[in-house]
Amino acid sequence: MECRLDGQVAVVTGGSSGIGRGIAQLFAQAGAAVVVNYRGSRDGAEEAVREIEAAGGKAIAVKADVSQQAEVEAMFAAAVEHFGAVDILVANSGIQKDAAFTELTLEDWQQVIDTNLTGQFLCAQAAVRQFRRQGERGVSRARGKILCMSSVHEVIPWAGHTNYAASKGGISLLMKSLAQEVAEEGIRVNAIAPGAIRTAINADATEGDAARDLLRLIPYGRIGVVEDVARVALFLASDMGDYVVGATLFVDGGMTLYPGFRDNG
Ligand code: NAD
Repeated sequence: MECRLDGQVAVVTGGSSGIGRGIAQLFAQAGAAVVVNYRGSRDGAEEAVREIEAAGGKAIAVKADVSQQAEVEAMFAAAVEHFGAVDILVANSGIQKDAAFTELTLEDWQQVIDTNLTGQFLCAQAAVRQFRRQGERGVSRARGKILCMSSVHEVIPWAGHTNYAASKGGISLLMKSLAQEVAEEGIRVNAIAPGAIRTAINADATEGDAARDLLRLIPYGRIGVVEDVARVALFLASDMGDYVVGATLFVDGGMTLYPGFRDNG
């Protein structure tokens, strides 16, 4: 048995770059029709769609700011209009606005919470409503699947990034509470918590000297790539992961293993 998504429709938020783009591509290869959501990067989204189509897959690009309810609802309506249903949501969009605690502006606090946490709430709510509307489609053992993109910072405190860490800590219990609420309907909700993955969000920490420092925090000895996360997302979204409900899968090369204690603390 392979991890396949044939006949299913996936909405991937923040699908024009980084981890989201890698997931969109892999899901399309696995047989899903993909809605590549973007906020600003229309070129990136259209390029992702062209790549998917060139490989024989199906995709459309849909613009929406995940922190705006009307835009999220319009994105789901566009997905249903184009592909007839939504079976999988990957709530992946996220931003960082870093600052020392007393320098952090209310605006930057709010923007990170709005995008990373409220954005996942709005997308997950729209997804559950759509799963209920469309009922059993016979394309997967679950009636619908939601993947929340968290971070190792849902458990690792991160000085200078309180807004980001608070948003990811929030995702942990948003995901678990929602999973508990909708599991009896056959809806599976899970999360992925990546460690350090080489993308635009952390380019300054994953290149050059900074990369050497970062490697000290990763027992497995390498910085991750988007495919590391995309493969786990595919497993969780497919029937191969059908009995995984309300779990956060850490994809972090061991970053959450307290590597500072490797030499006896
Ligand atoms: P990225 O910057 O390439 O991707 C983030 C995406 O979110 C971008 O496409 C961006 O346009 C989109 N986005 C931002 N605000 C949005 C909004 N309001 N509405 C819709 N889309 C919006 O970086 P990435 O590393 O691919 O990040 C993807 C997710 O993975 C994020 O949630 C991030 O927190 C999480 N993550 C990344 C890492 C890492 O090391 N790269 C580690 C842990 C968690």
